Amino acid sequence: MAQMYDHGGGVKSIRVPIPDNPLGHTLVYVVDTDRGPVLVDTGWDDPTSWGTLAEGLAACGTGPGEIHGVVITHHHPDHHGLSGKVRDASGAWIAMHAADAAIVRRTRTTRPDRWFTYMAAKLTAAGAPEDHVAPLRTARRPSTMPGFTPAAPDREIVPGELLDLPGRRLRAIWTPGHTPGHVCLHLEEEHPAQLPGHGRLFSGDHLLPGITPHIGLYEDPDDTTVTDPLGDYLASLERIAALTPAEVLPAHQHTFTDARARVGELLTHHEDRLTDLLTLLATPLTPWQLAERMEWNRPWSQIPYPSRNIAIAEAEAHLRRLGFV
Ligand SMILES: [Zn+2]
Ligand SMILES: [Zn+2]
Repeated sequence: MAQMYDHGGGVKSIRVPIPDNPLGHTLVYVVDTDRGPVLVDTGWDDPTSWGTLAEGLAACGTGPGEIHGVVITHHHPDHHGLSGKVRDASGAWIAMHAADAAIVRRTRTTRPDRWFTYMAAKLTAAGAPEDHVAPLRTARRPSTMPGFTPAAPDREIVPGELLDLPGRRLRAIWTPGHTPGHVCLHLEEEHPAQLPGHGRLFSGDHLLPGITPHIGLYEDPDDTTVTDPLGDYLASLERIAALTPAEVLPAHQHTFTDARARVGELLTHHEDRLTDLLTLLATPLTPWQLAERMEWNRPWSQIPYPSRNIAIAEAEAHLRRLGFV
């Protein structure tokens, strides 16, 4: 039986599993509107996940064919993966911020080998040793890869505006950082249990109760603009705290109430980390060298290959924030 939870006030959630991933599941929210249920995120594109979503919707008294619209917090496959299947089943629209929609368009039109070539050049520039870069040059080049054919959205989520959800007040809050087009969605309605604060916030991956989201680079083979994703993220956190939502409904883990306190913890965490890195950077380091010396959830020697690439992007994001790149 799918795990469905009723949050009250016409909002339910379904725990959709993410296969082989320590995060475990994505919380897909089902928001009732006058025109039918609208989903906030959809989950990973996998038969088991799809089965769980369909069962969960049945437990909510609806089904994939009844969905009116899909609101996507950001383009990552654990959020946007099943959007295409939901649209195929129901004719629902899919809405996404323009910056993430651009990534989806690029992913759909860029051949994987272009991506491997781009990453090999990037890693070399970041100081990665040849034995780390070589596999990208010799990798099997499949014509399709998971996440390389995400569904193209039909609607744009415009920051600051209410979404077209008949009977509901759901406002888009642009929160770049984790991705350039990440949005949180503020349900500007009284909390169903009258908790103090202003409505409820669907926070995607931006604000999670027990983990810090990955802040790397907005990787784009076609754009050489030097962006500052960590700076964007910290500014976006402040923006969310100012909303003072009564409850936060994140896309992973569990709901929580004191958004301002959680934002404070995350800001302190990043401040401390930046201070530590400044000490390390008394000697100039490449992003690779910095990643080797940063604190991760396990020693560098035990970090698997794909996670090392993510770690290097995170090191480079910190170098940019500190003005070293
Ligand atoms: Zn994400
Ligand atoms: Zn996620």
